[in-house]
Amino acid sequence: PFDVLIVGGGPAGASAAIYSARKGIRTGVVAERFGGQVMDTMTIENFISVKETDGPKLAAALEEHVKSYDVDIMNLQRAAALVPAHDNGGLTEVKLESGAVLKAKSVIIATGARWREINVPGEKEYRGRGVAYCPHCDGPLFKGRSVAVIGGGNSGVEAAIDLAGIVKNVTLIEFNGELRADAVLQKKLFSLPNVTVITGGQTTEINGDGEKVNGITYSNRQTGESHRVELAAVFIQIGLVPNTDWIKDTITLSKFGEIEVDDKGQTSEPGIFAAGDVTTVPFKQIIIAMGEGSKAALGAFEHLIRH
Ligand code: FAD
Repeated sequence: PFDVLIVGGGPAGASAAIYSARKGIRTGVVAERFGGQVMDTMTIENFISVKETDGPKLAAALEEHVKSYDVDIMNLQRAAALVPAHDNGGLTEVKLESGAVLKAKSVIIATGARWREINVPGEKEYRGRGVAYCPHCDGPLFKGRSVAVIGGGNSGVEAAIDLAGIVKNVTLIEFNGELRADAVLQKKLFSLPNVTVITGGQTTEINGDGEKVNGITYSNRQTGESHRVELAAVFIQIGLVPNTDWIKDTITLSKFGEIEVDDKGQTSEPGIFAAGDVTTVPFKQIIIAMGEGSKAALGAFEHLIRH
């Protein structure tokens, strides 16, 4: 069996793997796609100490770093179920979709999350070329330009407030008749001179010139009238979905489906840890996921030496 089995090969999983392997214990990583969300990222400017990089480059560096240690990487393998150890100090099982069963003394879940998409024409075509999901990541790329935010919940309104300080103006489009964000956020939003709020607006297309985004088209859901706004970017903020379907009934999740962890990254099951975007830890960022991954690995190691 593995001493530590990590499920997920994004920044959190890679970091957990390196920290575990450096303890000289038997470490494995199962990943559906090594690199995780980083593979879908164009420009990365907030990975501290690296002024600018791109996703595939960072993902390749992650893999190279992990491979320089004795880690058993099982790429292109999807975990389908988790069976926690029956007794303290026993083995946890991770069942793969292929039918294989892996056993480990401790498990670190780092299966990440995915942004909910709106599924309109232009979204996929211009992803990373004006279609964005993360204001902390991509906001500064559109300094002085016009942008839209889709979604009027807390994350959409926070994004609009954040972006309003950087870009020329922000159009916030909410599908329902009113915003769902907390009152204090709405108050702040409506106090900003360079934000236009549209409620009851259905985005029908993200327009582009073949190269990058140059507009958004939405219809007024009451009148059916169609409008187009010229802009450089659309930030889609309609939810981040944690990849926890496969563990739903085994460990405690928040009402948003995120894994609840303590301050050492341990879940509700002893010996099962979690890190990164899949957990309740706030702010979903590469550098945070890496920090959390190393923390969970140290937590798992501490667990191992006590059992
Ligand atoms: P992920 O990167 O989501 O990795 C999850 C891993 O788990 C993957 O290997 C996946 O294949 C695997 N997995 C999932 N389910 C299973 C399963 N059942 N079985 C086996 N494996 C599974 N952050 C920044 O800091 N700066 C940026 O500029 C930035 N830009 C971004 C741009 C885009 C378009 C996106 C989508 C995100 C961006 N982020 C950025 C956010 C950042 O990518 C995430 O916070 C980070 O990747 C989270 O790392 P993670 O390891 O927790 O999860």
